[in-house]
Amino acid sequence: MRLRNLKNKEEILENSNYLVKDPYQYKGNWCKYFNNSNPIYIEIGMGFGKFIVEYAKRYPDINFIGIEKLDNVVARALPRIPDNIPNLCVVRINALEIDEIFDKEVDRIFLNFSDPWPKVRHSDRRLTSPIFLEKYDKIFSKDKSIYMKTDNRDLYIYSLESLSNYGYKLGDISFDLHECKDEDIITTEYEDKFVNKGIPIYRVNANISSK
Ligand code: SAM
Repeated sequence: MRLRNLKNKEEILENSNYLVKDPYQYKGNWCKYFNNSNPIYIEIGMGFGKFIVEYAKRYPDINFIGIEKLDNVVARALPRIPDNIPNLCVVRINALEIDEIFDKEVDRIFLNFSDPWPKVRHSDRRLTSPIFLEKYDKIFSKDKSIYMKTDNRDLYIYSLESLSNYGYKLGDISFDLHECKDEDIITTEYEDKFVNKGIPIYRVNANISSK
């Protein structure tokens, strides 16, 4: 996502109640941050946060953490979050560090319209590469659950293979998620743009159950 530099970025980041400034201190202890032991769902690459805000409002008994690596994106997302969503916060890190802020406490990871990294030599940077799946192993509490949506067919096919090879059971596979209008889908900013242009959205919900 290429964006103009925001002049008051530092001020927004400094003054937001939603941004966790030192997320490393909560590793293994996010229940203390939220003051409850509800499940924790995270979205890696939350962008402007539409999806995670809507999800958090709809499911107050689940704690949501939006992860985003770019300051400029976080600073645009924070002012859009309405006041008083106690089960939501935002963390500004690169997902490469995900296992430095969580320890066996995440119940679900959402990957929505992740960067596709089309060149083979960059495939390790894809958020469904084995490098990341190994990191996710360290942060999942018990069962592993990755919910993915993308408009990028190559990333989708790569991810189906990578997740399956890693032992994930693939469910809710769709090659055109919005084809059927019956489903109540919480959409992202990117998703809205693609759907308006008639571009199909791919989905997979991948799980490894500990039972
Ligand atoms: N999920 C949003 C949506 O669907 O509207 C944003 C999608 S945008 C294409 C991908 C976002 O993921 C960008 O904001 C980017 O900065 C962020 N991102 C990409 N790689 C990341 C990483 N390794 N760690 C954290 N955020 C990342």
